Amino acid sequence: MSAAVHLSEEQIQGLADATLRGPEGLAAREHCDACGECAAELSMYGALVQRLSTLEDPVLPPDFTSSVIVAVKQREHVLLQRRQTVLAAIPAAAVAIFAVLGWILSAAPAVHVDRFLELWTVGRHVVSAIVPVLEAARLPIALGAFLFCAAVLFVLARALRVVPQPAPASS
Ligand SMILES: [Zn+2]
Repeated sequence: MSAAVHLSEEQIQGLADATLRGPEGLAAREHCDACGECAAELSMYGALVQRLSTLEDPVLPPDFTSSVIVAVKQREHVLLQRRQTVLAAIPAAAVAIFAVLGWILSAAPAVHVDRFLELWTVGRHVVSAIVPVLEAARLPIALGAFLFCAAVLFVLARALRVVPQPAPASS
């Protein structure tokens, strides 16, 4: 083998990191044994490879993968919860508005009865017997509407509350 034809940089790198094998690797090794120039280059690359091998990947915490999965799942859970809350809030808000409207309208019959009394005094006695009933019924209706709204708000407040997340091991 001619000593004039030196090894390529690729071959020397292959020798240094032991990826150049087989007959080609043997020939390159033989050339380096006989050629000081290539041997010097090889030792330089060898030192470089050795230093690179001492550089390690950043050490990940042993529970890194699981903590990432847990974080992703928690994020998905929160997003799902928000979506469900919005979906639940729409009918709940509609029902709450309906309940408030019902409560407001429940006061209307008494007003109509009052006008009715002004026009037909003949029916006054009959209607006057109904008015107290309606008046008496207003309070339970109002209380029912209030309790219903309170229940809806309570459910919404519970649905909006984010589930407390387990503390990560790192912090
Ligand atoms: Zn050489």
